[in-house]
Amino acid sequence: MPEGHTIHRAAIDQRKMLVGKRLVVTSPQGRFSAGAEELSGQTCTAIEAYGKHLLYHFQMGSALHIHLGLYGQFRTAKVPAKEPRGAVRVRLLSNSHVVDINGPNTCEVLDRAGLKALTNRIGPDVLREDADPEKAWAKIKASRVSIGQLLMDQSVIAGIGNIYRTEILWRQKVHPALPGKSLDRVSFDSIWSDAVKLLQLGVKHNSIITVDNVTKSKTRYGERFNIFAKETCPSCRSEIRKFEMAARRVFSCDICQVPPEI
Ligand SMILES: [Zn+2]
Repeated sequence: MPEGHTIHRAAIDQRKMLVGKRLVVTSPQGRFSAGAEELSGQTCTAIEAYGKHLLYHFQMGSALHIHLGLYGQFRTAKVPAKEPRGAVRVRLLSNSHVVDINGPNTCEVLDRAGLKALTNRIGPDVLREDADPEKAWAKIKASRVSIGQLLMDQSVIAGIGNIYRTEILWRQKVHPALPGKSLDRVSFDSIWSDAVKLLQLGVKHNSIITVDNVTKSKTRYGERFNIFAKETCPSCRSEIRKFEMAARRVFSCDICQVPPEI
């Protein structure tokens, strides 16, 4: 699943293509025909990311809400638009670019009330300037749930996915199994600021890089991790432990990240 940096990067890239322009909105696949018809012909006034959600605002006050989920993807190109590839749920066409969205988990038109309801249920997004970390801290310190799960809960803190979760906790020497209520304030502050730093770097490079002072790797996605899917800890050389947490795999170094006492 794309993590928050992917969606913020998409917002930045697509702003140049669509904002301030009148869009022709269609649903080549047909599953979003009514919504597309409602938006088509209006000017797109803004594009913003909220955690893993992307919102395209339109002049009449409603917005197109997209959540890619596990399989969704964006495809962008300059005009003239080519034939849609695969099941394109929604096509946004400006005078200069075409944005195709395939397989999103959520694709809907929201009115102002719907927008408010959505943004109210999303936790503070580490990549947004208006994010209030106190809201995340209030939920974390009141919870018995592990910090590893809380960091993935988008209603607690938005934008962090499985790889960033694993890497940030290792960098800050906090074990994923530690209950939220046992986390101290200093550790929370360092987790928050590290998340801001790493996800901003992710937006810049369009890739997850959690190792300090490196550039993108030569792999397909250019990623660089410390312990995610690795065998040994780069800091202490111990074996990395892999386990399941809420059906997602998580990794830890039980030397650098001391496990909580049970
Ligand atoms: Zn270690």
